[in-house]
Amino acid sequence: MTAHDAPADQDQSQPWSRAGRQPRIAIIGAGMSGIAAVVKLQHAGYTDLTVYEKADKVGGTWRENTYPGLSCDVPSRWYSFSFALKPDWSHRFSYGADIQAYLEKVAADFGVTQKVTFNTAVTELRYESPRWRLTTATGEQAIYDVVIAATGILHQPLYPKIAGLDTFAGTAFHSARWDHSVDLRGKRVGIIGTGSTACQIVGAITPQVAEMHVFQRTPHWLSPLPQIAYSARWNRFLARFPFMQRLIYNYYCQLMVRTFSAATIGNKLMQRWMSQICQKHLADQVPDPDLRARLTPDYQATCKRMIFCSDYYPAISSPNAHLITEGITGIEPDGVRTEDGTLHTLDVLLLATGFDPTAFILPTRVTGENGIDLEKVWDGAPRAHRAVAMPGFPNFWMLEGPTGPVGNLSLIAISEHQVDYIISMLDRMKADGLAAIAPTQAAYDNYNAAMRDAIKSTTWVTGGCKSWYIDKTGVPNLYPWFPLRYLKEMHNPVYSEYRLMQ
Ligand code: NAP
Repeated sequence: MTAHDAPADQDQSQPWSRAGRQPRIAIIGAGMSGIAAVVKLQHAGYTDLTVYEKADKVGGTWRENTYPGLSCDVPSRWYSFSFALKPDWSHRFSYGADIQAYLEKVAADFGVTQKVTFNTAVTELRYESPRWRLTTATGEQAIYDVVIAATGILHQPLYPKIAGLDTFAGTAFHSARWDHSVDLRGKRVGIIGTGSTACQIVGAITPQVAEMHVFQRTPHWLSPLPQIAYSARWNRFLARFPFMQRLIYNYYCQLMVRTFSAATIGNKLMQRWMSQICQKHLADQVPDPDLRARLTPDYQATCKRMIFCSDYYPAISSPNAHLITEGITGIEPDGVRTEDGTLHTLDVLLLATGFDPTAFILPTRVTGENGIDLEKVWDGAPRAHRAVAMPGFPNFWMLEGPTGPVGNLSLIAISEHQVDYIISMLDRMKADGLAAIAPTQAAYDNYNAAMRDAIKSTTWVTGGCKSWYIDKTGVPNLYPWFPLRYLKEMHNPVYSEYRLMQ
């Protein structure tokens, strides 16, 4: 039987939970959350799993992003699967290639890779009560009892809407579509954007290019990245005493949520501390007062996604770097024109302009009960019940869905807890012989109303900035409470929030 065949030997007239068979589960995406889903579901006894992956490798965002300087600003000893801690990370903050290698190894070691149907994009999901019909880009169809969207959040590159972008005569590409055939050495390079990605790129490439032109629309706050290389001796010690790895995992989790997360949700002391760290970093690293003034944001640190990067300020202060703060009026064959009339002549233009934060499972077309369309329900401002489910979309779950705790946290850890929640739901279906389960509209409405209320005191609203966190209704699409509360919620499902359908 191939992954796409209907299991003819099983009774399909009954829901899986009453027919005494395994639920057929489709997982869309083989990034970190898809890998976590397979490992944890298998461990819980759910083994009929098919993963659909549009690319030819696992890894998600770490496969897609390969730009110079790519590293993770969450400590690796926490940015790891809890079931596959790695004693021999080479650095405290791992480089992209090391994380990609880790994800591939975990997927192979835990039997995930063999469950993946590669090079297969899912284009449509249609609810045919109580199951889902899944259609791929090649037109193949299959029926599943449960669908888990593990597509990640930021996977659709956002290209700036700047007049003349397509007229540029040099080479232009997005940071997530890095063209490794282009040799940047000795070139005049421009980069649009000054977010986490741009800072890492500028830090890495400025020493080798002839001219580095950085087009900044808004300055960002930067904390130094306390990077260290781990010694072989220390790593051997950790390999010998795995409980130490667990201890360090928990230490980083507590450290990040009690400092950084506390600041975002309104802790004034932590906000002051974060601001001081960033201000000191800027003052120490940028001696030129004019440049420093142009790099200084006018909003609260942590309002936008905080950047941890030690290489950016030295790079932007170097003689071949130019910080351009005048707005861009257009792109021409020879370069970028700014409001002061200057044409910045370039050979290569890099677009570090971020991602569509409203994508999630989209552009896959998802049709729920009574023909409702997920894209229309979201209408450009995605929401969810506890970040994992939607009313009207039974047996459909999301990992890293809308309004989850994101930011400078370990998304691997969050996905793992979300998988635990989904497993509780499957266990409940099995115990009660349920055909389908979906949050009630009232539970969803109440949850989202409480979020909208709580979000008002967070730094994303009070901090005085604009960011990709804020949706088109002006409300941040984020979890406004302490992240550990979310993790607790994932282990205490409230079944009365759900329609339990026989
Ligand atoms: P981003 O944070 O959305 O930053 C995009 C940058 O492009 C901003 O500086 C933005 O300016 C600028 N921009 C966008 N459109 C523009 C336009 N039309 N004209 C001029 N400037 C424009 O994107 P990112 O840096 O790729 O990061 C995205 C997310 O990826 C981060 O928030 C983070 O969650 C994640 N990330 C994580 C790591 C890590 O180490 N874990 C590393 C990289 C990225 P404004 O600020 O004015 O909007």
